[in-house]
Amino acid sequence: MMDKHTWERAQEILRKQVGPDAYKNWIEPLTAEGVSGGIAKLRAPTSFIGKWVAKNFGDMILAALAQCDVDVKRLDFTTGKATSRPGSTLHATRASAQVNVVPTGFKDLPGAALDPRLTFENFVVGKPNEMAHAAARRVAEEASANFNPLFLYGGVGLGKTHLMQAIAWEISERDPEAKVLYLSAEQFMYRFVQALRFKDTISFKEMFRSVDLLIVDDVQFIAGKDSTQEEFFHTFNALVDQNKRIIISGDKAPGEIENLDERIASRLQWGLVVDIHPTNYELRLGILQSKAEAQSELYPGVTFADGVLEFIAHRISSNVRVLEGALTRLFAFGSLVGREVTLEMAHESLSDILRASDKKVTIDEIMRRVSDHYHVKITDLMGPRRTRSIARPRQVAMYLAKKLTHKSLPDIGNRIGGRDHTTVIHAVKRIEELQAVDSQIREDLELLRRLLEA
Ligand code: ADP
Ligand code: MG
Repeated sequence: MMDKHTWERAQEILRKQVGPDAYKNWIEPLTAEGVSGGIAKLRAPTSFIGKWVAKNFGDMILAALAQCDVDVKRLDFTTGKATSRPGSTLHATRASAQVNVVPTGFKDLPGAALDPRLTFENFVVGKPNEMAHAAARRVAEEASANFNPLFLYGGVGLGKTHLMQAIAWEISERDPEAKVLYLSAEQFMYRFVQALRFKDTISFKEMFRSVDLLIVDDVQFIAGKDSTQEEFFHTFNALVDQNKRIIISGDKAPGEIENLDERIASRLQWGLVVDIHPTNYELRLGILQSKAEAQSELYPGVTFADGVLEFIAHRISSNVRVLEGALTRLFAFGSLVGREVTLEMAHESLSDILRASDKKVTIDEIMRRVSDHYHVKITDLMGPRRTRSIARPRQVAMYLAKKLTHKSLPDIGNRIGGRDHTTVIHAVKRIEELQAVDSQIREDLELLRRLLEA
């Protein structure tokens, strides 16, 4: 049983553990909604708070509840308004914005809790991630240990963790008995260091070697940490020898991760290595549409004017996490103002994010694009010739460099053939004048800009 009073007692215990600041920020805002079937339902004011608490305080809350004689095995975080939908099936739970916390001792495996939203169902596929997605699917569906290990790499926020957790969900669903262990390389190291400290490396080894599927996220974290890498390498080999499957992610290709043990790097290359590319416009829009649909359950009544999602997809760079943040903010904003979110409102409320994600275009890229577009050689753009067919593209390059990069005028002049900054000023002015009267140049610029910002 968990009544209001019990939850207050648990909160009191937590307050002593986490300190007054963390308590005020994270624990106090939670309300308890009861316990059923060993699951305690907690409501957080925002999904961010729910996620944070689940990740950082989940175990502590479970322990505090146990101290108050509440017998729970799991926490279930709900956000937003109370819904009538019970979310009892796995499917419904995943579709709503809930975060489950499974205690880390669950199944005696010291892994991290899986986020119920990171499933294949919720993963939007586009050109930049189609290979990675196909590989992940394949690994999740095939019982044999082909493609072992699978190594997924790519930049921040492109969906590596999402795909790996989707595999974990899928495999646990297909085979509930399978021992699936998902954890970050950082957690792996932490466990290992603990085991060393408590002279308990034998059970550490046994435990890691007993899993059917080991998923280690962000392997770059252990690069350079020698004894952890050593242990990781042995764990890895032991599992491969037993035909157990391994999935690993990193921020770069195995050979490019600095200070990664060469043996690990070459082992990783034996399996299937796939990368997730930065998103493109179509994928970003697809993700926004799918997330907007999901979020509209939390914020009924919030609508967006035509072009708002397209605007975000166009202006926010490649990181999906930032994209999600922007969308969440717009929903909050929309529910606050209580009317349709217009393009102007989006512009206004996202100005900081938009500024931060303005794409960093380089002068080299500009030169390349301009040279392609006008069929002139880069060496000519850099060189001294002043014939119109070369001088005009050169001015366009200078103009674009001024508009799309943060380089100073002298810098730009310098990079484009060692010219004076007054030449750059003149070029920018000239192109601006031409744009007003010459539709061809307007089109050229529009196209080049789009290519460069894609
Ligand atoms: P990474 O591990 O590569 O840094 P994550 O997997 O944590 O990135 O992704 C960041 C956020 O973006 C997550 O909330 C994830 O659900 C979301 N995301 C990334 N790619 C996609 C996608 N293709 N479809 C839906 N959501 C995505
Ligand atoms: Mg990640």
